[in-house]
Amino acid sequence: MRGIIMHGKGDVRFEERPDPRVEQPTDAVIKIIAACVCGSDLWPYRGYDQPDHQKMGHEYVGQVESVGDDVTTVSPGDYVVGSFVISDNTCEICEAGYQSRCVNAVFVDGEIGTQAEYARIPHADGTLVALPGKPDDDLVPSLLAASDVLGTGWFAADAAGAGPGKTVAVVGDGAVGLMGILAAKQMGAEKIIAMSRHEPRQQLAREFGATDIVAERGAEGVAKIKELTDGLGAHATIEAVGTQESMMQAVRSTRPGGSIGYVGVSHDVELPGGELFFGLVHLHGGPAPVRRYLPELIDLIWNRTIEPGKVFNMELPLAEAARGYEAMDNREAIKVLLRP
Ligand SMILES: [Zn+2]
Repeated sequence: MRGIIMHGKGDVRFEERPDPRVEQPTDAVIKIIAACVCGSDLWPYRGYDQPDHQKMGHEYVGQVESVGDDVTTVSPGDYVVGSFVISDNTCEICEAGYQSRCVNAVFVDGEIGTQAEYARIPHADGTLVALPGKPDDDLVPSLLAASDVLGTGWFAADAAGAGPGKTVAVVGDGAVGLMGILAAKQMGAEKIIAMSRHEPRQQLAREFGATDIVAERGAEGVAKIKELTDGLGAHATIEAVGTQESMMQAVRSTRPGGSIGYVGVSHDVELPGGELFFGLVHLHGGPAPVRRYLPELIDLIWNRTIEPGKVFNMELPLAEAARGYEAMDNREAIKVLLRP
């Protein structure tokens, strides 16, 4: 089969890879129907992480080809969506709802790589969720979003305590930030403030449920958030970037007693103790336990209550993935769907 390998900074290639096969009785092999480029793929692409023949891709909608003897919840022919982290969904950490740190967790990115024609999914029962049937073609982008960006935005909104009567601020206008807006809206938030300087993304933010846009950043951005919240700050803040600047934007935009759901992959973030202490905010975040939310998200997509797939604004054949990375790197594309 063929798949995407990142050889080094900015060096993305479509090449031959060994055909995956069932190795453990708990494995499934799936044929990938749709994959995509993630904002987090840009970290190695830009050389922040040192990519060395890295198998790329961790979001996927697939069809099961074969399963090991112990797999009971999915069968060959089933259409499936899975999380970007492999989980057994039975250990104590999974039981508590934190499948992304399962004791048997494996990150799909790097270890498996779903920007490929096929993939071996370990712990298939604990990782994959079967769809009710063959998805209509127009549902595929939304189902693909559930695999990571929607699930991650959903976790961020949940961790931040978004809900009825709450004001939610969203730092970051990438796909995850936009999905956080959708999630906050679905959870009943009263006011959703999107921090974005990019007109097309502001527009999408409004479509997903943002009620206010703040284009300013830093101290000016904080001042604007305060203006919109009677001087108090947001109840709930979603941080979806992962830099020092974005974390501090989130901390300073949140009212005392409020919460921050942070899901931007943290890069060199150092939190000042004093400010955190007197900020009196809750911090909860990390790699999102997408598997916890998948059944509910699949339902909402299947019955067409939400359409997170609108976040994809470019589609390419898998063989042309390099163009997709480039388009996301220069912010021409919000998110790129890849079809094998
Ligand atoms: Zn587990």
